Amino acid sequence: MTSLAPDALGPTVTIGEILVEIVATSEGEGFREPLNLIGPFPSGAPAIFIDQCARIGGSAGIVGAVGDDDFGKVNIDRLQRDGVDVSAVAVSTDHPTGSAFVRYRPDGSRDFVFNIAKSAAALIEWTPQVARLVNRAGHLHIMGTVFAMPSAWEITRRAADIIKARGGSLSLDPNLRKELIGHGQTRERLEQLMAMSDLILPSGPELALATGIADERAAVQSLLERGVGEIVVKRGDAGSTYYGRHGVRIDCAAFLVDELDPTGAGDCFGGAYVGCRRLGLEPAEALTYANAAGARNVTVRGPMEGAATRAELDDFMARTERARP
Ligand code: ATP
Ligand code: MG
Repeated sequence: MTSLAPDALGPTVTIGEILVEIVATSEGEGFREPLNLIGPFPSGAPAIFIDQCARIGGSAGIVGAVGDDDFGKVNIDRLQRDGVDVSAVAVSTDHPTGSAFVRYRPDGSRDFVFNIAKSAAALIEWTPQVARLVNRAGHLHIMGTVFAMPSAWEITRRAADIIKARGGSLSLDPNLRKELIGHGQTRERLEQLMAMSDLILPSGPELALATGIADERAAVQSLLERGVGEIVVKRGDAGSTYYGRHGVRIDCAAFLVDELDPTGAGDCFGGAYVGCRRLGLEPAEALTYANAAGARNVTVRGPMEGAATRAELDDFMARTERARP
């Protein structure tokens, strides 16, 4: 039994920013002198998630906006190539596609120059195309970035009600930072979404932040009691853990890889997990594919470049050692 609606009910839909990412090829601080850069790479957490979901074989669609420019085409072409329904991606004629310039520091932290808030990425609207996609969707995946984007929040609420009413399911990747949680209506909105979610995919300290409970087991229990069907905790290079009803816990050891570019691991993990579960895979198998998708993505430069098909993940798993549990 899965807590997620089957793929046959309709596509997994996500809502939010679509960007290009341009990456400095050298480590260091910031962008204050001329640098060698590589890109544009298609990006944006929701776009990475949905691309991985489609590549693994799930039906998938995205609600978002790009500019009428080459950066927009980079995204639309990639998503379309990988099988994502882009009918609800609006093309703005007076705002450019969102972008992020990224440079890694030697300690693994990152410097950014963003053009998101004033770009097409933030101009998501409820259009007839959005209504058509949402009205036939079987699952909604919500990214924490909607808390900071008023236009995305309104559409997410509306879509969540419609999809739930037609028997669809809902997942949430909280993507919370502690600075954000006290901000505006974030706490209240988070509570609303957690109460509606069938699956929550926290990483790092997000579970404790979201529930206000430091102990992992107790935090998970509080979510299960609220009706969340499954909780999957992402642990970076330490793998992941599934928690389900009746005390079920499954730990999944990480694949041993050389991390070249950590961006997008959590989104690929989520896309693979949701895709596999909706296609009917059991939690343990979906979790293994998700672990593989996250691990494989960090071995490739570019946020979405490592998103993989099921065959590519089978091949990756066959030739990659696992950490000891
Ligand atoms: P992001 O950094 O993209 O926001 P996240 O914090 O949501 O991601 P992570 O825990 O970093 O999520 O990564 C998701 C999953 O991908 C992990 O649970 C793990 O299975 C896999 N993964 C990520 N990084 C590595 C790594 N260096 N080695 C092996 N597996 C990894
Ligand atoms: Mg991470």
